[in-house]
Amino acid sequence: MGSVANPVYRTGMAEGSARIIDGRRLAEDIRRAVAARVDALRRLGRPVRLDAVLATAGNADADDASRVYAENQARMCRELGIEHRLHELANLGGTGEQVAMDAIAGRVLLLSHEPAVHAIMVHLPLPESVDAFKIQSLIAPAKDVEGVNPANIGNIVYGRSSLAPCTALAVVKMIDSTGIDLRGKTVVCVGASDIVGKPIAVLLMRREATVISCNKHTPSITELTRRADVLVAAAGVAGLVKGDWLKPGAVVIDVGIHRVPGADGKPRTVGDVVFDQAAAVAGHISPVPGGVGPVTVAVLVENVVAAAERAGI
Ligand code: NAD
Repeated sequence: MGSVANPVYRTGMAEGSARIIDGRRLAEDIRRAVAARVDALRRLGRPVRLDAVLATAGNADADDASRVYAENQARMCRELGIEHRLHELANLGGTGEQVAMDAIAGRVLLLSHEPAVHAIMVHLPLPESVDAFKIQSLIAPAKDVEGVNPANIGNIVYGRSSLAPCTALAVVKMIDSTGIDLRGKTVVCVGASDIVGKPIAVLLMRREATVISCNKHTPSITELTRRADVLVAAAGVAGLVKGDWLKPGAVVIDVGIHRVPGADGKPRTVGDVVFDQAAAVAGHISPVPGGVGPVTVAVLVENVVAAAERAGI
């Protein structure tokens, strides 16, 4: 995929002994590599483009939040030379289930069949009445840059596609950035949701790691996590993973994102891992914020350029 060949990031030390995996810097490197690939395609007369579908419900606050996210994405695309087309389907909240479903499905199918389109994403959340899974299933798998069509999940199991869910790809890139060879290593994934935990486990199985997938029903979970050479925390529970959950020297990737009140009463962003405790035990650790989040955003544009490159074959 990108030209970032597993660089080892040694950009800072945490409180204890762990090296910090700097997601912002990794994201910057990915974006730089993407810009070069976009430029190479442009020179061949093949402009790169992302078509994003934004279905708003007519709820001002939620719609504004979605629009801000879409606009940020558009700005990043422009900076990298990628054309961004936003297909806004407005005020679908009160239209009734079938009308909303037909409008969104119709647009996604149109884009899926349009030869000039090679990268599609659908912003979430969709209006409440619409089944996101059904919509995602309609995105042509080769254009599905978020890796959300179930066909692409099947493809990654068999190693047939690199269009995997962006967060899962970001986690693998962060692990690779430490220089660790996954073969022969034990990876424990805490969290097994369809969109985050399971795809991470599958990608790491493809890399021939020994993968243990845990969920909220896993008994004696710390007995498993203490054996992990790599621990991926994706449970969606703030501060779940403590220092004594870890094997000394482990690589710890924190996928969780939570807004919690800080000591000064102001909200702050934390992950699933108690950072200071874990940093005293781990060998490498990804922070929150500044870890998986920015890399996930960069992986989306990497998937866009990868889809464009393949579309020209
Ligand atoms: P989810 O609620 O859908 O799934 C949580 C998973 O964790 C389930 O498999 C559940 O069984 C398991 N789990 C819950 N409590 C547990 C416990 N105490 N012990 C072990 N397993 C437990 O959540 P999700 O959508 O997978 O998201 C997980 C986290 O990742 C959230 O904090 C979310 O905000 C974050 N997230 C981050 C990114 C990113 O780009 N950084 C992207 C998506 C989600």
